[in-house]
Amino acid sequence: MKVNLKNFNLKELENFVVEKGWQKFRAKQIAKWLYKKKASSYDEMTDLSKDIRNYLKENTEFNALELVMYQQSKIDGSIKFLWKLKDGNTIETVLINEKNHKTLCVSTQVGCAVGCKFCFTTKDGLIRNLETAEIVEQYINVQRFLGDEEENRISNIVYMGMGEPLANYENVKKSVQIFTHPDMVGLSHRKITISSSGILHQIKRMYEDKEFPEVKLAVSLNASNQDQRAFLMPISQTNTLQDLMDLLRSIPLKPGWRITLEYVLIKGVNDSEQDAKRLVNLLKKDKHRFKVNLIPFNPYPSAEFERPEEERVLKFEKILWDNNIATFIRWSKGRDIDAACGQLRKKAVDLINV
Ligand code: SF4
Repeated sequence: MKVNLKNFNLKELENFVVEKGWQKFRAKQIAKWLYKKKASSYDEMTDLSKDIRNYLKENTEFNALELVMYQQSKIDGSIKFLWKLKDGNTIETVLINEKNHKTLCVSTQVGCAVGCKFCFTTKDGLIRNLETAEIVEQYINVQRFLGDEEENRISNIVYMGMGEPLANYENVKKSVQIFTHPDMVGLSHRKITISSSGILHQIKRMYEDKEFPEVKLAVSLNASNQDQRAFLMPISQTNTLQDLMDLLRSIPLKPGWRITLEYVLIKGVNDSEQDAKRLVNLLKKDKHRFKVNLIPFNPYPSAEFERPEEERVLKFEKILWDNNIATFIRWSKGRDIDAACGQLRKKAVDLINV
């Protein structure tokens, strides 16, 4: 199989060019074309010699993703992209238009093995991990789609799409290296967030790994006690809430950085006043280390759960704020475009299989 250069971090790209007998600085030239200029073919890389371009054309794969379709929300302008991979599998990426910036939510796996009860992506289990190039191209292709004007720049990346990022550790790590390296994409470390379901040994590994660029961490909490969490997230049967909180309290944080705790609010399951108070108790020891994102459940066809009424969501939020816990409600973006993760993909797979 042909190699895709977007699977390489800068060191690997340098090794690659040196192995080919080219000068080392060629790696930075190639990286500039791929990540800064977002070239769509080797022909555009005019400061490379024709021989190098021809070699790359013949021996490497330029595109890992093919755009199948996209849908834009009429409500908030967010755009959901569906990509086809070389093996025929499909993945999704969501562009979120925030007030002052654009955030890209990338996928890291086809499907997911974690099995959170409220999640659409996990319905068919894990199919495979994405390669680094398949993660990085989600950003490059969407940025190219938007154009390069200042107001269209994607400044933030969240690893919150399909899959558990830390279950695809090496490829995700390399994609973060590419996103943050100044000679590659060059995004700010503080604008990148890895969102995990809470695989304890992988979170620990990430913080101990000197080669994993320092980026922000979000963890799906979704419950105010162990039984509730184990019910909603089977991973919590072995990675318990207590152990998770102990770990999150112990990891080193840069000044001003906080860990985001995501809490999907589900009607009648984890949205009561008692839940809010238990959550306060869980976080009261070190409130300043955490912020809470409340995400009202976004129902999909065949979902066994419902979205709570707005009033209940606001009440939950108020209890947390009254106890000085920084809390934000993330009203789901793109509710009119099947924004629950994995929904567009499922629709496309259903269409293909008809
Ligand atoms: S919420 Fe995330 S970790 Fe849980 S099943 Fe869905 S994709 Fe996997």
